Amino acid sequence: MLELAEGIDESNAWVYLEGEEHDEEEGEEHSEEEGEEHGHGGTDPHIWLDPKGAAIYVNRIAARVAAELPERAAEIESARDAGLAEIAALDEELRVGFAAVEASSRKIVTFHDAFGYFARAYEIEIVGVAVEAPGQEPSAKEIAALIDAIKAAGVTSVFSEAQFPSKVLDQVAAETGATVLENLYSDALGDAPANSYLGAMRANASAILASFK
Ligand SMILES: [Zn+2]
Repeated sequence: MLELAEGIDESNAWVYLEGEEHDEEEGEEHSEEEGEEHGHGGTDPHIWLDPKGAAIYVNRIAARVAAELPERAAEIESARDAGLAEIAALDEELRVGFAAVEASSRKIVTFHDAFGYFARAYEIEIVGVAVEAPGQEPSAKEIAALIDAIKAAGVTSVFSEAQFPSKVLDQVAAETGATVLENLYSDALGDAPANSYLGAMRANASAILASFK
């Protein structure tokens, strides 16, 4: 915990982002508006799906709030530390959970290209995605390639995302015999218990772990 809080400051956060080849200039802004093109073609902005990435945000938010409210610095610091401790515990819990599954079984297919950071954190292979970003329609060729990848990998389930209903997954499932599993949380929270960051992350992890069995 202490290590996490001390290890990630603003300058390290930048190193982290650079290390992930994250380009802040290009298409990173993440549109929440439904129906609008989801502006992250070519880059994956979902850093928060790795708890270590979420910790970066917590540090940044705490620093910004403390700058606005210096008289409450101690309070902000303790809230930050409590949040970082919960995030570190989440990270450890997920690490242990995924490590218990044989590496060759850790494979997922998701709706959009959102789980790169999550997959890297827990050594999960992303076999494919239906679309790079919501709002896009995959070509027949792309759908065929995804179907081939799913068959080759022996994946038996594909994950939908509540925020982005899609017929593509149904088609892919019909042609591969895979089951469409509902719903991962990538860009928005859900109903309780997925109505918090920690809750959504745990819901994702338990759905993904269950899909490996
Ligand atoms: Zn997204």
